[in-house]
Amino acid sequence: MADAHSSGWRPRTRAVRGGLCRSEHGETAEALYLTSGFVYESAEEARARFAGESEGFVYSRYGNPTVATFEQRLAAIDGMEACFATASGMSAVFAALACQLSAGDHLVAARAMFGSCHHIVTQILPRWGIETTLVDGTDLDAWAAAIRPGATKAVFFETPSNPTLELIDIAAVAEIAHQAGARVVVDNVFSTPVLQRPGEFGADVVVYSGTKHIDGQGRCLGGAVLSSARFRNEVLQPFMRHTGPALSPFNAWVLLKGLETLDLRVEAQCRSAARLAAFLETRREVARAIYPGLASYPQRALAETQMTAGGTILAFELAGGGEAAFATLNGLRCIDISNNLGDAKSLITHPATTTHRAIAPEERARIGVSDGLVRLSVGLEDVEDLEADLAQALEGMAQDCAA
Ligand SMILES: *Cc1c(COP(=O)(O)O)cnc(C)c1O
Repeated sequence: MADAHSSGWRPRTRAVRGGLCRSEHGETAEALYLTSGFVYESAEEARARFAGESEGFVYSRYGNPTVATFEQRLAAIDGMEACFATASGMSAVFAALACQLSAGDHLVAARAMFGSCHHIVTQILPRWGIETTLVDGTDLDAWAAAIRPGATKAVFFETPSNPTLELIDIAAVAEIAHQAGARVVVDNVFSTPVLQRPGEFGADVVVYSGTKHIDGQGRCLGGAVLSSARFRNEVLQPFMRHTGPALSPFNAWVLLKGLETLDLRVEAQCRSAARLAAFLETRREVARAIYPGLASYPQRALAETQMTAGGTILAFELAGGGEAAFATLNGLRCIDISNNLGDAKSLITHPATTTHRAIAPEERARIGVSDGLVRLSVGLEDVEDLEADLAQALEGMAQDCAA
């Protein structure tokens, strides 16, 4: 079994071979087990599988060989002990929280987060008697004040956050949370395991949207929850097994092939993002460029401590506000307007009217999602073409606004 070796392998080898489990045909690429169920040699064997006394798959809602390859490979890359794959990033976020929280428990989360994460924390969990408190995630005193020893069972945050790219000090928040007996759940979608491994800084649970950089080519939805084997087996698995947000074997196959090139793509996308951020910062149409790799970035020291590069996503604020943001998006000829991210194609979105539109305007203003803010996910195109596209769109927008 490949897994017996994978702990000694270096990262590129783990990305290509982690979790590999060939069938009797000896196929080169990973087999796609597009099956919902599995058959047993005998009724006794079926009984033993259900009782957990015999190894083997039972039903693809609980586990599937292709899905297991994806899970093992992602865990090998991320460095966490165990992984459970999910149908989407949102099902990963929801399962990671819902599997461990009960009525009467308290959750503390950082205010700056993806719109759907915000909805789960502020709308869905409270309906079930889970009390939630939002804090400014960059303020360690705010975490300390909000966490209630004994009652707070989990803390949740994204770093960098979507779309304002705020960083949260994982190690410092983990220390405060652990002292109070709370688990730390980190949404690591923006960083990917290539740039940041939250487990190394004390996170107990790490969630991913496979839809983003892991697929990286805009094809299918998926997600994953990583944790200790104990958390996976005792807390997460019973929840997943009975509620059913399982990853399709087909999508698992696409995503596990994506893992083979994840680091190469992310590193190339980071280089382009750094260059475009520096370019945008020089433009008079741009009031502010936000990118963790920029010298002007306010949390530069923390970025250098917990991330190995600035990331593939940047944000910028148009001096001309919402109108200028729309004119810039509409003027682009190569970069597409799309709310997805982490794709090989560069994608741009206006968060205030798309991904974050459901958040009340006052709350949006508090987390920095202004009308002039634009989020750019940098792809794998030639960076010169992307820079030229941004330049012509900004020039065209400036002329439109002057006219
Ligand atoms: C996209 C995203 C998700 C949700 O992932 P889906 O696969 O779209 O469900 C969760 N968190 C963050 C930070 C995201 O960007």
